[in-house]
Amino acid sequence: MRLLVVGGGGREHALCWALRRENPDAALYCAPGNPGTAEIADNLPIAADDLDRLADAVDMHGIDLTVVGSEVPLARGLADRLRAEGRAVFGPSAAAAQLEASKAFAKQVTAAAGVRTAASRTFTDLSDALKYVDSQPEPLVVKASGLAAGKGALVCDTRRDAAKAVRAMLEAGQFGDAGRTVVIEAYLEGEEISVMAVTDGRDVELLPVAQDHKRLLEGDSGPNTGGMGAYSPVALASPALLEKVKLDILLPTLEEMQRIGAPFSGVLYAGLMVDRSGVAWVVEFNCRLGDPEAQVILPLISEGLTESLWRVARGERPSRINARRAAAVTTVLASRGYPDAPEKGASITLPDTLPEGVTVFHAGTSRGPDGALQVGGGRVLTVTAVNQSFAEAQRLSRETAEAIAYEGKIFRRDIGWRAVNRGGT
Ligand code: AMP
Repeated sequence: MRLLVVGGGGREHALCWALRRENPDAALYCAPGNPGTAEIADNLPIAADDLDRLADAVDMHGIDLTVVGSEVPLARGLADRLRAEGRAVFGPSAAAAQLEASKAFAKQVTAAAGVRTAASRTFTDLSDALKYVDSQPEPLVVKASGLAAGKGALVCDTRRDAAKAVRAMLEAGQFGDAGRTVVIEAYLEGEEISVMAVTDGRDVELLPVAQDHKRLLEGDSGPNTGGMGAYSPVALASPALLEKVKLDILLPTLEEMQRIGAPFSGVLYAGLMVDRSGVAWVVEFNCRLGDPEAQVILPLISEGLTESLWRVARGERPSRINARRAAAVTTVLASRGYPDAPEKGASITLPDTLPEGVTVFHAGTSRGPDGALQVGGGRVLTVTAVNQSFAEAQRLSRETAEAIAYEGKIFRRDIGWRAVNRGGT
């Protein structure tokens, strides 16, 4: 088996790690990868959105299965391109990836499918948008419709802030083209969970549920980021709730995608807000695994990942993916200045040995001219600990994060605090 993972972040390192674990003898490539993937796969120096060179590499290396980790190449049509060339690829078409790449499109789909989500309106015209803001109760959420690396949603306590956010996007060009269309929606109260399913467009195979910490600072405060840590399982996601999510959200969404001629295959990620009465509302859809959720979900899978991805890539229904009954906690180590202007270039010292069950996934790291490991991006590393005990997984993740050294290291020490409050052991 010859496998290619497309992307170069922590999620793709975790994907390589999980595929390598199930396929010790496979030829495994990662494009572009990072210094972490280089240890378990052959990195190909090709950007994740360079469709021509990726298609050439798939040919040249005789890749049997390409797994696309990140949303940008999907939205640009990498899966369509490879499929047109007769290759097996796991990930949705560009048309289906619109579910993530256009929040305006996602809102149309949820409306047509009768899926519960925040009331919203979509605007390209500044004065119309401002008028709408004026007419709505506070708080409001203003979102760039396009891809903005998880940073395009601004929760605004007041109409004034919302108007400012609208101006920033539609007038000042914040988020570039991604912010030329804005979705303004009602604020949903509750607790968020990330439900991900492997799907061929009809059937769904649920992955372990994760909770992500999107805010920069402890206690879930500060600005939104791509994610500062995650944990799984989440007690709130009871079997009954998940059954409802499947029946009321995932399946109707997939049906609607079929109906409009954009069948979705790959990982359907539903970011959900669970309200006080236990009802789930869609906050967003993604068309791939979450990052950092992948770094807790994949280490919990005990068998069946490759087989299921392989089947879906060939248009068959997903097979069973089994997960261990254990807890996983991942802590993201970022660089001072993240998310706006992270510092880069500091050298990184990793511990010589890691405790059992602990894995360090690379995200924004690079190698300097002398081969030394350096900070190369905003989110630098993610430290995942898997343990029977939630508290122990949390402690191991945090203590390993503490033991990693570089100038400007920032991380949250409270990943999983909700599980602790709920009495997780
Ligand atoms: P999104 O990019 O749509 O996933 O939004 C990023 C984050 O903003 C979400 O994970 C939530 O924490 C927050 N958010 C987005 N939409 C809403 C909403 N309607 N109500 C409350 N919080 C939201």
